[in-house]
Amino acid sequence: MLSLRDVSVAYDGVPAVTDVDLELPDGQVLAVLGPSGCGKSTILRAVAGLEPLSGGSVSWDGADLAGVPTHRRGFALLFQDGQLFPQLTVARNVGYAPRLRRAPDTAKRVGELLELVGLAGYGDRLPGTLSGGERQRVALARALAAEPRLLLLDEPLSALDTGLRERLAVDLRAILRTAGTTALMVTHDHEEAFTVSDRMAVMRAGRVVQEGPIADVWREPADPETALFLGYARVFRAAAAAAVLAAAGRPPAAAVAVRRSALSLDPSGPLAATVVSSRATPEQVRLVVDADGVGEADAVAPLDSHPGVGQRVRLAVDPGRLAVWESAPAAS
Ligand code: ADP
Ligand code: MG
Repeated sequence: MLSLRDVSVAYDGVPAVTDVDLELPDGQVLAVLGPSGCGKSTILRAVAGLEPLSGGSVSWDGADLAGVPTHRRGFALLFQDGQLFPQLTVARNVGYAPRLRRAPDTAKRVGELLELVGLAGYGDRLPGTLSGGERQRVALARALAAEPRLLLLDEPLSALDTGLRERLAVDLRAILRTAGTTALMVTHDHEEAFTVSDRMAVMRAGRVVQEGPIADVWREPADPETALFLGYARVFRAAAAAAVLAAAGRPPAAAVAVRRSALSLDPSGPLAATVVSSRATPEQVRLVVDADGVGEADAVAPLDSHPGVGQRVRLAVDPGRLAVWESAPAAS
């Protein structure tokens, strides 16, 4: 298990990462999510041993890694641009680490890994003949070939275009699960974090502002800024939103961002909603209360049935899951 305790890193005396605590249990994927410049890559570099700590400790299974050089940590790194050896075939790229340590059956292992990343039969190709997505799959296979006890991923999909990025995110999750890999991934893309990881740490200005299983972070963001960064459409003044829900005779409901127009809700009418974003698990379905939907009797879907974007649903009531905050009212 990877543990960070009070980790701080400074560049020329200027703090880039401050007092970060993180734990990553074996076999899980933790996404560190935050805007550009918040210190994500710095954390990864500190874990890899590429950046000295100005405070705190990084340990593995309780053993402090201070003084353990990068190549002895048993970690593998994968960057945005996978940095393949251009003159080596796909198979030789993937087999690089196993051959270095003279592992038996390298060819067989390479074949298995190429199959895992969906590139069976690509072994003889050169990197220059591959698409960006294929190259990144090869880079992933090469990183896994080293059999790292921890895989460090720095914005692994950011160089790819949107459609491909989304597909590869789904594949990346499946590949890491199949391989049972423990991974720390940093990204600025909340969709990527939601798709790939089990847990999430949200960073801002060098600090972790929230950490937990992704469904929990999504359900109850720590503050309005976090909510907006996670992709909530808007955050409404808590008092007003709570009053609307109370007037409608509803206790706080599942992860709801309330639209300004909801203020005109008819308290006696049913509370309808339009799904504006739907994710892999039911807990992550995000709803926006839509005043126009009040009284309509169409398509009622229980929240556990993965309603699609744009579908009308009746608002599921689940006390303790309201996600609205004190903040300036959004213009609508
Ligand atoms: P992120 O990966 O979240 O975009 P980084 O960890 O790369 O952020 O950077 C965090 C902060 O540290 C930024 O303000 C950045 O300018 C600064 N920084 C990063 N690397 C260096 C460096 N080698 N020297 C000086 N400042 C750096
Ligand atoms: Mg970075």
